[in-house]
Amino acid sequence: MSNNLQTNWDVIVIGGGAAGFFAAIRCAESNPNLRVLILEKASQTLGKVLISGGGRCNVTHACFEPAKLITYYPRGGNELRGAFSRFQPADTVAWFEERGVRIKTEADGRMFPVTDDSKTIADTLRFSAKQAGARVELGASVLGVEKSPKDGYRLEVRREAGASRLQTKKLLFATGGDRKSLDLIRKLGHIIADPVPSLLTFNIKDKRINDLAGVAVDDVTLKMDSLTARGPLLITHWGMSGPAVLRLSAWGARILFDKKYASTLTVNWLGDYKLDATLEVLGRNKDWHENARKKIAAHAAFSQIPIRLWKQLAHFIGDKNWADVSKAELRRLAEELTAGEFKIQGKGQFKEEFVTCGGVSLKEVDFKTMQSRVVDGLFFAGEVLDIDGITGGFNFQAAWTTGWLAGSAMG
Ligand SMILES: Cc1cc2nc3c(=O)[nH]c(=O)nc-3n(C[C@H](O)[C@H](O)[C@H](O)COP(=O)(O)OP(=O)(O)OC[C@H]3O[C@@H](n4cnc5c(N)ncnc54)[C@H](O)[C@@H]3O)c2cc1C
Repeated sequence: MSNNLQTNWDVIVIGGGAAGFFAAIRCAESNPNLRVLILEKASQTLGKVLISGGGRCNVTHACFEPAKLITYYPRGGNELRGAFSRFQPADTVAWFEERGVRIKTEADGRMFPVTDDSKTIADTLRFSAKQAGARVELGASVLGVEKSPKDGYRLEVRREAGASRLQTKKLLFATGGDRKSLDLIRKLGHIIADPVPSLLTFNIKDKRINDLAGVAVDDVTLKMDSLTARGPLLITHWGMSGPAVLRLSAWGARILFDKKYASTLTVNWLGDYKLDATLEVLGRNKDWHENARKKIAAHAAFSQIPIRLWKQLAHFIGDKNWADVSKAELRRLAEELTAGEFKIQGKGQFKEEFVTCGGVSLKEVDFKTMQSRVVDGLFFAGEVLDIDGITGGFNFQAAWTTGWLAGSAMG
């Protein structure tokens, strides 16, 4: 890092994350005459890329139809539709493959570099930025932004070498969920949707799931208020996690925040089984002569429910044999299996992936260029926008797409 940073730039990108790098590379590649600078306040760039996907970087998702792809975004799906028709997961894969990074698809659709190492992605982005002539300044925190009366922006930057003032014609915010940066954007005249966490796990203390950490059920349906999510569920030391919980928490991020993470969760442990169908299966188990002398706790009527969980869900029946269970007890068990109620008492963070719901209000951004509709020459890309996806590579895809569009427009 040099002490004498040039002060006048054509394009400054605030934030050296996935979106900032993608935008800077695209911009510098499409117009090599431009002087492009990335300002990153941390001591290294691409910090989240490096820790992402458990160190493997789930770079995108094998979903190549924009209409389907947008259904994975609790916020921003509608706006991303056109954007994905210009740059989508197939383009991400091609972009990396052109630069020598082979990408593989896992059974659930998540895509990773074949090296299973996020460093491959970070190194490629850093190398491509350097090749394209985009400059990177580390330890440079943007503390103030002013629109120049005539043209462009003046930035107040705190650096190791002291404070500097920089001038740029075009400015891109790719600052992720950083709150202070959102304040700078607000001061420039933009509406900001309050940032709240998304992709959460639920803290639930309940004797039905006590001591069952690690037990998983492949297909459950969860309900909370008017929201529904279906998929695998994992019982943890603190409560519940797994894809179904993460999905519900993403769609319900704002509701959960407003309720201070105290709500009622309804669990159908049998996926889409209805009460009547469940009662019928339970009735058949009771009437089946081979079961008559079996303890109810020892024989789960549904193979998809692990026996330890079954035992705890049926605990209220006690030590009875199947033959001795009353109709009322069977009904209560059917209710427990298809609509068990659990009190959510708090949230945990999903450590593999965590994103912010909220950010720059989308109606003030032109999604063809990612340019502000409020102030000229101001652009946005990545998580700083009020866009977030569920887990599976969708959040990086939004960063690549919006970064690429902003970079194209600025170049
Ligand atoms: C642990 C974890 C794992 C994840 N795994 C995945 C995954 O596998 N797949 C997936 O799709 N998504 C994943 N995500 C989400 C994904 O990382 C983000 O959606 C993505 O990084 C957003 O990119 P971005 O460039 O918009 O923001 P960021 O990556 O947050 O980058 C913003 C950058 O701006 C800098 N900055 C902010 N303000 C300033 C300022 N004022 N001055 C200078 N610099 C500033 C920050 O230091 C930061 O480096 C994961 C997230 C976490 C936390």
